Amino acid sequence: MDEVKTRRPRAKKKLWILLTVILLVGLSLLFLGTRLRHWVEEKEKTKLLTLVDREHPVEDDYNVEFTLLGEGQMVDSRCVDDLEAMLEACRRAGGRPVVTESFRTWGAQERAYEEALAKLTETGLSREQAEQRLERMTEQPGFSEHQLGLAVDLEEQDSELTKEQQADTATLRWLRENSWRYGFILRYPDNKSEVTGKAFRPWHYRYVGREAAEQIHELDLSLEEYIGMFFAS
Ligand SMILES: [Zn+2]
Repeated sequence: MDEVKTRRPRAKKKLWILLTVILLVGLSLLFLGTRLRHWVEEKEKTKLLTLVDREHPVEDDYNVEFTLLGEGQMVDSRCVDDLEAMLEACRRAGGRPVVTESFRTWGAQERAYEEALAKLTETGLSREQAEQRLERMTEQPGFSEHQLGLAVDLEEQDSELTKEQQADTATLRWLRENSWRYGFILRYPDNKSEVTGKAFRPWHYRYVGREAAEQIHELDLSLEEYIGMFFAS
């Protein structure tokens, strides 16, 4: 009987140690889990900010999940909900937006570039002159944001105007004022041509996520400036 009595406290002590270890391991896992989730979220946000320009071509192995839109257009799945919400809000405000360009494969970008080039050479320009002229307007394959699936061209439905002439339509005006609320930015604004190296494209919108879009809007930055300011290493 005496022996049993002396063993009890030791058993209790072991139990306490075990419980403490379980608690500590649990807390550590919880902490690590939170850190990991935060890290993944940050990584995802940064991926939405992938810069594509003359110095930063689309990476060969760039690969994301795509979603087919109703109009036969395809975009990065991460921007679908915001894109649809934006188009719906624009319609409610009296606009008539339609997605005319979205994800382009390498081949599609090549065709778009060659077509634009052909149009210019038909006017009598040499290929070199035409390429120079296109520099600010259309990208060579590998250098278009459309190859990310995060860019959309938005126009007014059934407009008689060309997309270049649509800047002041109700649809494009509404988008300029409100797209940031849905995570989209006007990628090549008139006042940033010097920085982007591209002419004003009132139709071209780029998804960067709501947080970044709001900051870009508030600070009146181009994507290049925003990345340089907050993400340059
Ligand atoms: Zn575009």
